[in-house]
Amino acid sequence: NDLLRIQNLKVCAGEKEILHGIDLDIHENEVHVLMGPNGTGKSTLGAALMGNPAYTVTGGDIIYKGQNINEMPDNERAKNGIFLSFQNPIEIPGITVSAFIRSALEAKTGKRVRLFSFKKELEEKMALLQMDPSYAERDLNVGFSGGEKKKTEILQMLMLNPEFVILDETDSGLDVDAVRTVSKGIEAYRKQSRGSLLVITHSTKILEALPVDYTHIMVNGKIVKTSDSSLIEEVNENGFAAYENAE
Ligand code: ADP
Ligand code: MG
Ligand code: MG
Repeated sequence: NDLLRIQNLKVCAGEKEILHGIDLDIHENEVHVLMGPNGTGKSTLGAALMGNPAYTVTGGDIIYKGQNINEMPDNERAKNGIFLSFQNPIEIPGITVSAFIRSALEAKTGKRVRLFSFKKELEEKMALLQMDPSYAERDLNVGFSGGEKKKTEILQMLMLNPEFVILDETDSGLDVDAVRTVSKGIEAYRKQSRGSLLVITHSTKILEALPVDYTHIMVNGKIVKTSDSSLIEEVNENGFAAYENAE
């Protein structure tokens, strides 16, 4: 069953067209990897799928669970199970990690989340991500290291249990141990959910623990090649030059 079907998607930032007609099909329970040179439009695709108002869909369709969501606001998309982990997570003084995730969970489910079971689950997931439990009561991302911010993103993913996850370079700027923790978190998500992931990354370390179904190469706002995980090794050896020239 199609979870997400992107058809001839064109996206502008301001006056400038960034994505020039993207086609992408993602089924339930699949892992897709999106690679490509810097400035090619990968984050723009993630932002457009999440409904970031800075980006305008000027053509094509985003069909999610059989429904066109081109005009759906970002908070509705989140309620419907779309989750985007930012390249640069924001800091929110005055709201703790625990309170932030609990209210996101309540917004998503439309139900009150009972504190006791919530805290217990939060503690379990934090242990899995090797996060100190005291971080639950710290202000969201305030004074967190890059690695701690990324772990907090993965923690939100595990707690919210979305159906479609976009990870935008969640692994960038992390040391080897933190990359391993993040990939452990992704594995845990795969075990607890039949959801699908679109993983935007430059690093292949994060992919080692993941069963990748499809790899896509984006160059200049278009997907120029799609294949299985062997494409990752190909990119590793040859870089993106070959695809740039083919374009
Ligand atoms: P990638 O994630 O592949 O590195 P981005 O999607 O971040 O690429 O950017 C693609 C292009 O779109 C770049 O040229 C970038 O400068 C431009 N761009 C992205 N966001 C905006 C924006 N909000 N306003 C203007 N230009 C933007
Ligand atoms: Mg980039
Ligand atoms: Mg980017």
